[in-house]
Amino acid sequence: MIAVVPESDDVVSVYVTGRDLQRLDPRAGQFFIWRFPAHNGWWQANPFSLSAAPDGRTLRLTAKAVGATSAGLRQLPVGSRAFLEGPYGAFTAMHRARDATLLVAGGVGITPIRALLEESTGPTVVLYRVHSAADAVLLSELRWLADERGARLHVLAGRTGVGDPPFTPFAPGDLAALVPDIADRDVYVCGPPAMTDAVVRSLRTLGVPRRQVHAERFSLA
Ligand SMILES: Cc1cc2nc3c(=O)[nH]c(=O)nc-3n(C[C@H](O)[C@H](O)[C@H](O)COP(=O)(O)OP(=O)(O)OC[C@H]3O[C@@H](n4cnc5c(N)ncnc54)[C@H](O)[C@@H]3O)c2cc1C
Repeated sequence: MIAVVPESDDVVSVYVTGRDLQRLDPRAGQFFIWRFPAHNGWWQANPFSLSAAPDGRTLRLTAKAVGATSAGLRQLPVGSRAFLEGPYGAFTAMHRARDATLLVAGGVGITPIRALLEESTGPTVVLYRVHSAADAVLLSELRWLADERGARLHVLAGRTGVGDPPFTPFAPGDLAALVPDIADRDVYVCGPPAMTDAVVRSLRTLGVPRRQVHAERFSLA
């Protein structure tokens, strides 16, 4: 483990390196099962997505503190060992069907989306749903990557509270207004389960073919 970088009060990035990392052949959008024996026991293993496209030399995870493992990452000593199992997952550009892409993230679901943006080719739109602008971790990287790729990035701040229409801004009409050619895009969505389900339902309503819809849920159930 070569660095721990706080991204906000409750989100931290961990960078690891190792021999022959490129032989693992990970792809943007995939995840590993991580073990940090310096922090907790061997039996404790947690899935975290790569939050940057793999470059063959380092891998990065970005974790929100929700429990003992994720909160403790902030205290990991530099130089301590990490054990990785993977890569896992089909949330990758290998399964693209169209040239254009829509990437949709909710909260810490930005991690695989950030990695996918780094590898994106063709017209790309990113929708990043956060409670408030201060919760938008990795935002400066996203802005930089979007500029470099000519991608359009929308940060959609707000809570779906009482009185709101359900899942604004992800109701079919809202999505179609933001991305009029949505049916001609591959759509990658990663966020809280309720948000992810709402987006997938809206995509169906909008006639986005099933093979163009790619959803990652941060749940192994
Ligand atoms: C494929 C995959 C990829 C993931 N990628 C990331 C990532 O890139 N960044 C990131 O921050 N998290 C990610 N997660 C979620 C992450 O694995 C969990 O938050 C973490 O393992 C929780 O461990 P903990 O010991 O810190 O908390 P625990 O003590 O295990 O849990 C603390 C509290 O959080 C709740 N909780 C635990 N896991 C989840 C979850 N997955 N979703 C919602 N609530 C949960 C528990 O019910 C409990 O209330 C991913 C999960 C999966 C399945």
